[in-house]
Amino acid sequence: MPSRKFVDGEVVMGRWPGSVLYYEVQVTSYDDVAHLYTVKYKDGTELALKESDIRSQSSFKHRKSQSSSSSPSRRSSSRSRSRSPGRPAKGRRRSASQSREQKDDKKKTIQETSLALLVLVLRKPSENNTKRYNGESESTEKNATSCIILEQKLKPDLEIKHVLEQYSLRSRKDEKKKEEIYSEKKTFVAVKPIEKVPTKTKELEFGGRIGTFMMIFLLPVTVFYLLLMCKQDDPSLLNFPPLPALESLWDGRVFGVFLLWFLLQAVFHLLPIGKVVEGLPLSSGRKLHYRINGFYAFIFTAAAIGVLLYFQFELHYLYDHFMQFAASAVAFSLALSIYLYVRSLKAPEEELAPGGNSGYFIYDFFTGHELNPRIGSFDLKYFCELRPGLIGWVVINLAMLLAEMKIHNLSVPSLSMILVNSFQLLYVVDALWNEEAVLTTMDITHDGFGFMLAFGDLVWVPFIYTLQAFYLVGHPTTITWPVAAAITVLNCIGYYIFRSANSQKNNFRRNPADPKLANLKFIPTATGKGLLVTGWWGFVRHPNYLGDIIMALAWSLPCGFNHILPYFYVIYFICLLVHREARDEHHCKQKYGLAWERYCHRVPYRIFPYIY
Ligand code: NDP
Repeated sequence: MPSRKFVDGEVVMGRWPGSVLYYEVQVTSYDDVAHLYTVKYKDGTELALKESDIRSQSSFKHRKSQSSSSSPSRRSSSRSRSRSPGRPAKGRRRSASQSREQKDDKKKTIQETSLALLVLVLRKPSENNTKRYNGESESTEKNATSCIILEQKLKPDLEIKHVLEQYSLRSRKDEKKKEEIYSEKKTFVAVKPIEKVPTKTKELEFGGRIGTFMMIFLLPVTVFYLLLMCKQDDPSLLNFPPLPALESLWDGRVFGVFLLWFLLQAVFHLLPIGKVVEGLPLSSGRKLHYRINGFYAFIFTAAAIGVLLYFQFELHYLYDHFMQFAASAVAFSLALSIYLYVRSLKAPEEELAPGGNSGYFIYDFFTGHELNPRIGSFDLKYFCELRPGLIGWVVINLAMLLAEMKIHNLSVPSLSMILVNSFQLLYVVDALWNEEAVLTTMDITHDGFGFMLAFGDLVWVPFIYTLQAFYLVGHPTTITWPVAAAITVLNCIGYYIFRSANSQKNNFRRNPADPKLANLKFIPTATGKGLLVTGWWGFVRHPNYLGDIIMALAWSLPCGFNHILPYFYVIYFICLLVHREARDEHHCKQKYGLAWERYCHRVPYRIFPYIY
């Protein structure tokens, strides 16, 4: 096994992926398995680089004194330094070394060079500018033009072209080609996303090994505790429920019904209906295909439930055996997580999740080791995200509504129950209708499929998100029509923010040149992706979370103010989203470095305007 050449903490020159530019970077770690160095650029961007893309600083200085042409850094430097901004590229006097450079350059494609140039101008001069590495003083690095394109409209990028021209060494013929590359629609095509090779997870989240170990036990305990509390006449926090006998939680028939449900949803998912779309590029550059038929699955499920009700099947069987169903779901999600972890041990390195590859069994088991585990084309994570648990949530709510009517001899459900059912139905239908949007979420792009998501999708969502409806069965709550109207308005506001923010980001990620987004401004980043700074994403940094939290409050309010239990969801949800937001910020800082800092400066509030 080859030994590593550079040590942790060493300051070296790292090639910017896809370009010929070298920047000063610091080695932060080395992955013995993948033979990759994690390096940190001065703007905070962290990337995994091969040893061949790293050079010692001394080799640069040495080369510089011998010849100014052979190092890529030198080449790019001469581009930026030898041109006075605004001078035309053609007809320029060239030194012998520059001529040699041009010969070398012929080996490169115009696209690669253009990317390098764009990377060059996107960087703040005082941060990672090649000039500094070639011995020039910092004060000469200030280049007002490089900042011009940090904020721009999704319109023909005249400013980009202008800046690029100032750094150009190309003939007019090449210039023409370049113009084509940077024409309105191709701006984003030319700038390939940087291919990040997954490497070891060094920063552990969720309290690391101890935290994740505890959560594997605490999460199921919390579910049972809350459900037992809900069943009590007085569900006050200090009124601890009596513990049920363990064997009373297990019912083979209930487990069979649960399995049947899971398989039925899998069959619906496998039906060859609905379009097939591509996911976002993986670290290898590959894109996976996903069938979008969640809404059809929902319609088929509704039809199946309708048939069951028609034949007098008592859906409140779900309510009567709620604890056993929860126990079945816990057992199933645990078994699934074990299967996922075992199979992930054979997964190739590039298919592992960026956040779940720590090398610690418990941590990887919890966060998910493999990013997209698939059996053939059946994507287990994608399926579990939106099908059995999410559709199950609506079915359980309906069962609670029927149970309420039966237990309290009502001819129509209570207003509170109708509100809770309708609001949550809207949320689920929306998620299924906009199923494609899930492909750009953290769950799909960053988190592996392990206990956290398996438990979250199959236990937490169907059994905790139904807590309000479950509570209302045992604790009837009367609300007046004006109160109901006010709560409905609140839910609509939350939904509007949530939906429009998610759609704006999703559409922008899928097609930044979409004419519908032409009025939005964004900050370009060195990865080729932009960060929206107007519209919802210019209001706060996570407007979709804000909308989601407003809705969560509207779902709890119909349960009145007698107990805190129905507010568990909104309290937990705020904690979840605040923590999730912090995780996302951290990832974005690593991905976008300086551009992310500019975004944070421009949009200072994270979720709640003027508060947080
Ligand atoms: P988001 O959909 O908020 O995605 C975050 C990503 O968006 C970032 O990593 C970044 O990714 C991109 N991004 C950030 N800022 C910008 C910007 N200014 N312009 C463009 N892109 C930007 O993340 P989640 O997956 O956490 O949430 C998705 C939805 O799911 C939310 O509405 C959330 O409320 C909901 N949710 C619901 C839960 C529930 O239990 N009900 C649980 C968790 C989430 P990149 O740049 O790489 O594209």
